[in-house]
Amino acid sequence: MAQIRPVKQIVDGDNLMEGGGFPVRRPFPTPDMDQVDPFLLLDQMGPVDWAPGEAIGAPDHPHRGFETVTYVLQGRMQHKDSRGHQGELGPGDVQWMTAGGGVVHSEMPHPEFFKTGGVMHGFQLWVNLPRRDKMMTPRYQEIAGADLPTATSEDEKVWVRVVAGESLGVGAVIDTRIPITFLHFRVQPGGSVQQIVPADHNAFAWMIAGDSVVDEGGTTAREGQMALFGPGDAVHLSVPEGAEQPAELLLLAGVPLHEPVARYGPFVMNTQAEIIEAINDFRAGRMGAIDF
Ligand code: FE
Repeated sequence: MAQIRPVKQIVDGDNLMEGGGFPVRRPFPTPDMDQVDPFLLLDQMGPVDWAPGEAIGAPDHPHRGFETVTYVLQGRMQHKDSRGHQGELGPGDVQWMTAGGGVVHSEMPHPEFFKTGGVMHGFQLWVNLPRRDKMMTPRYQEIAGADLPTATSEDEKVWVRVVAGESLGVGAVIDTRIPITFLHFRVQPGGSVQQIVPADHNAFAWMIAGDSVVDEGGTTAREGQMALFGPGDAVHLSVPEGAEQPAELLLLAGVPLHEPVARYGPFVMNTQAEIIEAINDFRAGRMGAIDF
């Protein structure tokens, strides 16, 4: 018998401006919660309805020591980086970027989207790298939504897109440095799902839309809230039969690193000396520049 994890804490996402000035909803880091080891940050971008010519992104900036995961639900983004890589992200697409030793990139609205305007909605997750991987060669995994595995429960009330990990018998195509679960669930009224989350993982759910009962005690998490799970080896999610709308949520879990975290803006290392080295390397141009 799986032991269902109880909810330890419900956290309201903070409303903030990020990058060049786009609105995000952020459950952590906040003054009260600096991380959910191994996760350093979760931002929900929007949803924001941009007028033509007004969409804002994050122009050239560096990263070192962790991974940035971008998952787009609506809108269209364009990515460029100092290693000559260029990519495009539309609804359902994921970019899993391992910044490793350092990269400079830009995350902007796609020029076409900028022109027309429209709704931008998506996520950025920062996954910490273990000490041994912090200076690894950067790598990218860019997967189109159509190529990301999905599954539907037998009663068709639960749909899941598997970005990382495994759910409803389907495994991910993205490779992670440490075991990570990144699932996007849609649960219809009257639907429920029991998801295995190994006991040595930290786990949380982020509510994108609707409400969901997130443990056996009946704790409800609502849109814009994070449910942080306590000990156990499975998570149980359900939406009451009479609910007005389906619940949409991200379920995230990973093995904690239990390593010291020194963070300064876009650099996340283990020591302050390594942060200073990162700043110096960036200023000296050793993380490159975007030249196209
Ligand atoms: Fe970035």
